[in-house]
Amino acid sequence: MSRACTGLLLITACCISGSALGQSARKNPWATKDVGTLPPIASLTNGVWLKGELHVHSRHSIESSNNPVGKIIAFSKSVGMDYLCITDHDNHVDGDVAHNTWTDPEFKSDSVLLLYGAEWTTTRGHGNAFSAKPYDHQRLYDVRDQRDVVVGSVKKELGIHLSANHPSGKDHFGYSYDMVNSIEVWNSAVWPKNANAIMIWDDMLSSGRKLTGRGGSDAHHGVPETPDKATKNSYQAKANYVGTPTTWVFATARTSQAVIDALTNGRVSISSNPYAPRVEFYADLNQDGKMDMMMGDNAKSTGKPVKFRVQLTGNTVPEGDYTVSVVKNGNPFGTFKTNGKTAAIEFTDTPATQGRTYYRVVVEGPPTPYPQVPESMALSGKMVGLSNPICFNFDPNF
Ligand SMILES: [Zn+2]
Ligand SMILES: [Zn+2]
Repeated sequence: MSRACTGLLLITACCISGSALGQSARKNPWATKDVGTLPPIASLTNGVWLKGELHVHSRHSIESSNNPVGKIIAFSKSVGMDYLCITDHDNHVDGDVAHNTWTDPEFKSDSVLLLYGAEWTTTRGHGNAFSAKPYDHQRLYDVRDQRDVVVGSVKKELGIHLSANHPSGKDHFGYSYDMVNSIEVWNSAVWPKNANAIMIWDDMLSSGRKLTGRGGSDAHHGVPETPDKATKNSYQAKANYVGTPTTWVFATARTSQAVIDALTNGRVSISSNPYAPRVEFYADLNQDGKMDMMMGDNAKSTGKPVKFRVQLTGNTVPEGDYTVSVVKNGNPFGTFKTNGKTAAIEFTDTPATQGRTYYRVVVEGPPTPYPQVPESMALSGKMVGLSNPICFNFDPNF
């Protein structure tokens, strides 16, 4: 086609050449199609809410200070954590976390569920590996510079949960999101720096990748035992430590495997600290007054209106004002107000029968004091918590 050929002439010419090539008969093999029958929604009552920390570094990460394994576990227990994953940089031990963090004599607890994991620290960015039991992390480390197709097959063989860490900015996760189960949408107490991570999460959800959003403090530094042990980074322990933020999971049992499973299926919300209210997000599919699904769940849209309910459980400030922002398919859907006494809002919408729809919520309100990490309040500001999405028509076999 000559560049001189413009306007109506160009359009006509293109149409003719298109049909001449048989393009009208073209069928998009990837077009949205009916997802068929989806697996049934799990029980909303048969389970337990567990809170924990999914990204923290001990002395086995060389740039950490005053942060031995025993201190992290004792602190986690003291603030009521149910589970914990210490995620040391694997490159600092040449991939051998199994004989460093996991065999540390202090790596034990009678009350906190300890997950096995590490921060996969590569030239293409960072990801966390999570597992209920020991696995051959060395294999994941060894393939870090391979192509995604190799990494993905090793990850599958290891049976681990892989999570993209701090996905925007320094050391952003530079691998395909097709092989991860979750994404760190809230890294550290400094809430405002997570905006781009949230944007990436929405892009992944919108494209059909049902990734769980999770939190992680990424704390490296503990409070020095004596003043002479202080480092230039010791100030961080008062601002960002275990639980800033805290990731809640609705697990079918108080076991490490149930925590991992809940993380994978998305029955997860994130709170600014262990004492802040927990965000719960439910949907009543048939409007019979009984909730049928919660965040992380995926149902087929019937074309009928669905009633949604957001509630805050735990330490709300009774007279405090809370704002619930609902995001639908990556865009603002509505803003709702409640107070700490009611601590709930409801809204109704009809998810499309064709194609995917998701809803997630962000809750802002009065900060909750965290006396053990006193300066974290100012960094998380009004951010109380966020939910995972409630999904419709997502392909479980994507
Ligand atoms: Zn990192
Ligand atoms: Zn880290």
